[in-house]
Amino acid sequence: MPESESFTRCLSAGQLVELDACARCGECLKYCPVQEVTSDKSISPPEKIRLFREFIANTEGLKSKFFGPGKIDRRLLEDFAKAVYECTTCGACGQACTVGIFTQRLWPMLRREMVRRGLGPFGSQRETPAAVEKTGNPYGKPAGERFSSWLPAGLKIAGRAKLGYYAGCTGAYEAQPMVRGDVEVLGKIGEPFTMLDAEEEACCGFPLFITGQFELLEGLVKRLVDAYARRGVETLVCSCPCCVNMMSRDWPPFYGAKLPFRIRHITQYVAAALDGGRLRISGGTGETLIYHDPCYLSRGVGITEEPRSILRRIPGANLLEFDRHGAQSRCCGAGGAARKVFHDNAIAIARLSIDEARRKGAHRLVLSCPACYSKVGEAMAGYGENERHIRIVDIMELLSGVI
Ligand code: SF4
Ligand code: SF4
Repeated sequence: MPESESFTRCLSAGQLVELDACARCGECLKYCPVQEVTSDKSISPPEKIRLFREFIANTEGLKSKFFGPGKIDRRLLEDFAKAVYECTTCGACGQACTVGIFTQRLWPMLRREMVRRGLGPFGSQRETPAAVEKTGNPYGKPAGERFSSWLPAGLKIAGRAKLGYYAGCTGAYEAQPMVRGDVEVLGKIGEPFTMLDAEEEACCGFPLFITGQFELLEGLVKRLVDAYARRGVETLVCSCPCCVNMMSRDWPPFYGAKLPFRIRHITQYVAAALDGGRLRISGGTGETLIYHDPCYLSRGVGITEEPRSILRRIPGANLLEFDRHGAQSRCCGAGGAARKVFHDNAIAIARLSIDEARRKGAHRLVLSCPACYSKVGEAMAGYGENERHIRIVDIMELLSGVI
């Protein structure tokens, strides 16, 4: 593709206005976790926006109309692509943005444009489409083993039910205590729920979407939506914030219609069950907990209260907060598939939260996202035995131990 090809094809009219609106005030820089650990200004939001505006001006600006498109240095494009992929897409910059740029949506669209130009994705992200096509998951793990290591034997799964449970790839293959906790809590609530078969439940599409690789998405989404609809599902529950985000925001356009069921994060469903007396907590804990808001749960779909309402109900639990929490939370470092390529950044970012939790005296760092679980768990391994004093736990893993 010639470098003078339009840069605006991937953007909506609203996003073009957003790009123009950046005032280079720098407010977002205070909240960017990648800035925090790298201090590399070339990957900052205003710098990426400035460069992209320059690409547009060069190829589609007024001057280009009279004199033809200007030349864009290939090296500059490559550096830009790296900056766009080094971002964790956490959206903290958008949350802080003084002019309201919705960056959690803007960055994936810029990545899509980089893919179109052959400048992205990076490293093992390139293998994601082939892995999803062959195995149904981005890790290339056997489809038949999706549930085998964690789904409790004897748990009753209905063939058809109004309630559906989607485990998701990262939970099923990389954060099993989390998905085991989910189904144990669902089993305790007692409402019949259905799941797809191991070979039938496939990637929600988020790893493809977030790396800008869109080819498989429509087929994947249609197959999953139709499979749940055939089983009579009216509410689909899932614990992975990225899946919930993908399903709520992006499944409808890829499906081409309103979904025939509603999407709920597991904490929404469980908090309602506790409120309605369908689930009771019988045990307790004397531990001090600190809850980490996953970016795609807090900033993505606005769920911050339900996890806290669950934790506050656990007798004896002392709940602390990070300095930045709720919609202002700091990324765990794993977001946007950046963990697959920019491993050192991801570990360094995860350590910021672990260190804060330790300083505050928490015994348990409570997570609610399989990518956080996997990456923060990996970052914990870097601490010496006597330095740890804190363990990670998924919110449903914790709850399943006290019901
Ligand atoms: S989305 Fe997160 S990582 Fe990316 S630029 Fe914004 S604050 Fe930084
Ligand atoms: S806060 Fe918004 S307007 Fe200010 S520099 Fe960042 S992206 Fe631009």
